[in-house]
Amino acid sequence: MDAVKMIVTLGLLFWFCQTAHSQTSSQKPNIVLILADDLGYADLSVNGSFQIQTPHIDALAGEGVRFSQGYVSSAVCSPSRAGLLTGKNQVKFGYDNNLSENVPGFDPEYAGLPVNEVTVAERLKENGYATGLIGKWHLGSKEQFHPINRGFDEFWGYLNGGHNYFRSEENGKGYLGPILSNYKKPQEITYLTDDKGDECVDFIERHKDEPFFLFASFNAPHTPLQATEEDLKLFSHIEDKKRRTYLAMVHRLDINVGRIVEALDENGLSDNTLIVFLSDNGGPVDQNSSNNAPFNGQKGILLEGGIRVPFMMKWNGVLPKGEVYENAVSSLDLTPTFLQMAGINITESDGFDGVDLLPFLTNQTEEIPHETLKWRFTISAGIIKGNWKLVRIPDRLPMLFDLSRDISEQNNVSLENLTITNQLLKELGAWDISLPNPLFQEGPYWRGVQLDLYDKEYQLTQPELD
Ligand code: CA
Repeated sequence: MDAVKMIVTLGLLFWFCQTAHSQTSSQKPNIVLILADDLGYADLSVNGSFQIQTPHIDALAGEGVRFSQGYVSSAVCSPSRAGLLTGKNQVKFGYDNNLSENVPGFDPEYAGLPVNEVTVAERLKENGYATGLIGKWHLGSKEQFHPINRGFDEFWGYLNGGHNYFRSEENGKGYLGPILSNYKKPQEITYLTDDKGDECVDFIERHKDEPFFLFASFNAPHTPLQATEEDLKLFSHIEDKKRRTYLAMVHRLDINVGRIVEALDENGLSDNTLIVFLSDNGGPVDQNSSNNAPFNGQKGILLEGGIRVPFMMKWNGVLPKGEVYENAVSSLDLTPTFLQMAGINITESDGFDGVDLLPFLTNQTEEIPHETLKWRFTISAGIIKGNWKLVRIPDRLPMLFDLSRDISEQNNVSLENLTITNQLLKELGAWDISLPNPLFQEGPYWRGVQLDLYDKEYQLTQPELD
């Protein structure tokens, strides 16, 4: 073979390998998981808000499926994320609580997502996915818990539970901590929600030729309540300053969800990408002025306002368009759904509490995803079985609600339905004592305020325009 032929042959071989590679890759769908933080159920136009238009988030529901009974596995940030990324109810591995360093006996070596638990990012990465986390982690800050040691190739963000929106400091602590990244020198923050949007768009562009999993972990609209002057002007008619700022933050979140979707469109990836949007827990009405109407309760407690969240997904050509799915689903379903769609078999031995949602959403089965769902958080425990929901807290008789008639949990019908109440208490109690002790205790805040939060009155209707 002469030199020219050799070069041509090698060139063709190279071309063939490249082509074959990109074709194989293109068969595996991409996954974009967009997580809002402390977003109120009511505060999207798709859920009926009069005060804010969220066209980009709404479009995910309009072009895909919206879950009217979508739950997260915890009413607070960190354990909710532990469930989300493992597909297991996190209390099964002792992750009941938020990470807190103010508790006696707290051992920082165990303060994070246990290293023997496998994350969805690890499984996807092993199977050829490029994996990226942009934003909030909140699953441990020790080396062994760092996102790049938990399945993420790329990380741009911060390890704790929140961040200032305008500022970070090289040696800052807490919400002023530095932005960390393993793939670039992080730029100065402009407005954090926009900066995360920038990083998400950049991630999509850099990985468009291979299957990817992008976890877009926004902190909006979690406190601190900080918005740009430009966005605040849009809500100048809202008298309450807290609420005005909160709405401006949700607006900016919506804009950046739109930018992510646009980046997928522009790179021709929309038909091969599942996009999921949800909040990590219900709105903390008292902290960020969010609203969870029509649900009672808020972040931190197991009434619907704490655990039923805005939840939707879009996958062109695969999922139905504009459908509202009314059976209960859980954030725990996302890990098995992602793995199955990536062609990774899931088995009993994975120990998932979630299920692959695709057969349910594409009418391949008549069954429902969950007959029963359970929660435990410090002093509270709860169970849903069919239409019945029971919540157990230490200072009163159990609360039993019929969600099919009483979506706002106004009527405790436990005494009228003692047989059901007893059955659910038994089932919840048996589950509770079968679980390991929590790895670490909740800090004083959420444990201390819960009884009051169960007693508080919540606004159960959408706030008026102004
Ligand atoms: Ca949260």
